[in-house]
Amino acid sequence: MDGSAMSAAEVSAALLAIEDEVIRDAEAGSRAAADLEQQAMALGDETLVARARLCRANLLLRGGDIAGGAREIYGIHAWAARHGDRLLQARTHLACANLARLSGDEAKSLDHSLSAVELLDETASPYVQIRHQTKLADALARSGAIDAARLRFRQVEVLAGETQQWDRLGIVLNNWAYAEYTAGDFPRAQDVARRLMEHADAHGVELDPTELDTIGSIQIANGEYAQAEQTMQLCIARYEAGFSDDADDMAEFLLTLAGAQRGLGATGRAQASLDASRALCQQRELHQIMVRVHEEQAELHAARGDYAQAFAAQKECFSAQESLRSRQGEAQAQSRYAMFETTEALQEAERFREEARRDPLTGLRNRRYIDENLPSLLVADPAPAVAITDIDHFKRINDELSHDTGDKVLVHVADLLETGLAAVAPQGFVARLGGEEFLLILPATPVALATAKLDGIRQAISEHDWRGLTGGLPLTLSIGVADVNEISPPSLAAVLSAADRNLYAAKREGRNRVVAGTPPEPLVRAYRDRPV
Ligand code: GH3
Ligand code: MG
Ligand code: MG
Repeated sequence: MDGSAMSAAEVSAALLAIEDEVIRDAEAGSRAAADLEQQAMALGDETLVARARLCRANLLLRGGDIAGGAREIYGIHAWAARHGDRLLQARTHLACANLARLSGDEAKSLDHSLSAVELLDETASPYVQIRHQTKLADALARSGAIDAARLRFRQVEVLAGETQQWDRLGIVLNNWAYAEYTAGDFPRAQDVARRLMEHADAHGVELDPTELDTIGSIQIANGEYAQAEQTMQLCIARYEAGFSDDADDMAEFLLTLAGAQRGLGATGRAQASLDASRALCQQRELHQIMVRVHEEQAELHAARGDYAQAFAAQKECFSAQESLRSRQGEAQAQSRYAMFETTEALQEAERFREEARRDPLTGLRNRRYIDENLPSLLVADPAPAVAITDIDHFKRINDELSHDTGDKVLVHVADLLETGLAAVAPQGFVARLGGEEFLLILPATPVALATAKLDGIRQAISEHDWRGLTGGLPLTLSIGVADVNEISPPSLAAVLSAADRNLYAAKREGRNRVVAGTPPEPLVRAYRDRPV
């Protein structure tokens, strides 16, 4: 990428190429995703940023960074859920399914695979449908539900054929054949493997090393050792020709080759292949494959009639299995902790958001909340009543008593306004605009009715027993009500300004009163000019 600015459509299309294609070169994919994330940030497009981050997180997982990948994925998952982005949620579920499988948690992997399919609707591309359904079939098979898996695989095979997704069809048949093989149904596995080869022939696609490894393993299971050795030699040749960059696969291919050679009775060749596989496992810390290397070694010793060595290899296999389990436990713990950290950070952010929108003294909503929420409320509600109230001669309380008493009075007034409003407008709310000014919202209330209700609150506060707080000083309110229906368009500034003009009319007319209706233009000061 040359770093020049891209449009949102271009970023989206470039992301789709990473999301919906088999990425062979993980490092290059990661760099491309990071570049696209920068572009998306420059565009200020959060959805594109989240998609780019998910691409990077998936590639982190592939590189074995479970904790790093998990942290990213859970964060994006929560974002997608908050924004109701179903496709992105489906994609993050798919990533979570991979994450769970990597840490050996098959039940959780199945759960996520189910959600990854459930969240798709008809707007999802055939590619995404096929990919998610295949993952679900894989998870079903690994959980032992081979019948259910078989049904899914058959459906996806049809879908891939109908939509001519030939690359995907290869993957479907490969995974299906492998699922039958691990379920121990070798004739069925052979049948699906045959369809995989026919598909490759018919559509002129070359079988990739992974597919050849599946076919080789099935041939071994069916006793076709010579064919299996040939298949695996072709597999390794294709791999070495640069068909795949996933270096870890080679250990697996050599292991399968060793199995074919042992079947042929070529124990020398088998031992050489196995040693090569073991060396790769050690070098790359491939614990899962290492368990099977020990297993194959035990078989190979037994094939040579060396039962003492076979027993020793079997013991090594058990201890490798043990250490694999504890590593998987660790990976699960890491992934759970990453989830916990993400949830905690999100809750923290939510708390901060909430706090930033409340007035610390009275606990009421503040000006920021109003600025953010009143505009949409004015759009949604055709007849809301909006009023501003200001305490009369409040300075006297501060001056004659104390600032501290002033604060207590403010808290008490806030309380009385809230309970008073709750009684007459349960869906309404009070906010503190600043100083001793409050905003009152009564949803869907015609101005005359609102005026009567607010006058009741005004009267109750003026009749409240303030002696405990203010000594003998009276406490009254002036209230200005905006007639939202008279304001076109009812913008936030226009509505507050109308309420404000009526408030000052109330002050001028002698305080302790409610003034509503359309105020004469332009009065005392525009709302926006006042410091808050
Ligand atoms: P009026 O009837 O015209 O509204 O008279 P007033 O005395 O209430 O006049 P004004 O609105 O100018 O004065 C408001 C005072 O409220 C001034 C300011 O010191 C005080 N005030 C603002 N915020 C706070 C606060 O958080 N706590 C206390 N104790 N006083 C505050
Ligand atoms: Mg005042
Ligand atoms: Mg004031």
